[in-house]
This record gives sequence, structure tokens and C-alpha cells, in this order.
Amino acid sequence: MSERPPRPKPLPTPTAITRPFWEAAKDRRLSLQRCEHCQTYVFYPRPFCPACGSSDLAWTDVSGRGTVYSYTVARRPTARAFESDVPYVIAIIELDEGPRLISNVIGCAPEEVRCGMAVEAVFEDASDAITLVKFRPVG
Ligand code: ZN
Repeated sequence: MSERPPRPKPLPTPTAITRPFWEAAKDRRLSLQRCEHCQTYVFYPRPFCPACGSSDLAWTDVSGRGTVYSYTVARRPTARAFESDVPYVIAIIELDEGPRLISNVIGCAPEEVRCGMAVEAVFEDASDAITLVKFRPVG
């Protein structure tokens, strides 16, 4: 029997609208769109503010801090490329600025993750072009 070789992980493909997010991540910054009209932070990236409909959105660096809103522990890989990562945490992070995003919590055992836990962004280079935004416990 032979070991199956690891597969490369699927990576995001930046678009015209999402490219500033990925370029900021590469620079170790978490950047979100913010509506210049009603000041709402917007995530995921899009052409119009979901609160007021304005297309006047500006990319703004945010703190990278937030809390775990919800999470699950993946004990079986969702695809072969993730076989060597199990168990891992898939979480919804509520940023201090309001928006929620889906990411991974790293830097602690999956059993230590709790809803409401304070986390901060960390940046993981996945390729020359893509840096992923993940979160780790604060402190
Ligand atoms: Zn708005």
C-alpha cells in the first residue's frame, strides 16, 4: 500500500472587488470596506453598502480583534487537501467593528475554543499571491 500524496489546498481567487482585501492581508493588515455615507463596515466585499445602498465604499484598516461568535471542530477533512489538518476549528468571528467572517482559530487546542473568546487576526502565507486571515486567542 502506498501513501496518497498530499493535495494542494484550494485558494481564493481575488476579483476586482475583493483584491484590496487580499492585498492588505499580504501586508499583514485586515482591511474592510466602510460606507462613506452611513459609516457601516461591510464584509464580504461588494459594490454597494447593504445598509443604505451607497456605492461610496472605502477600504479601511480595522483592529483585527474580535470574538468567536460560533464554531465547529472539523474532525474529518472537508476535502482531501485538509486531511493532515484535522482536527481544526472553523469559526465565525465577530470583529470589534461589527462584521462577521468565517475563518479558522489556530494557536490553541480545538477543545480550548469557546464562544465569546477574544481573538486577534494572524496572517498565514498560503502562496506567493495569497495570505489567509486566521485568528488566535488574545493573550
Ligand atoms: Zn451605507
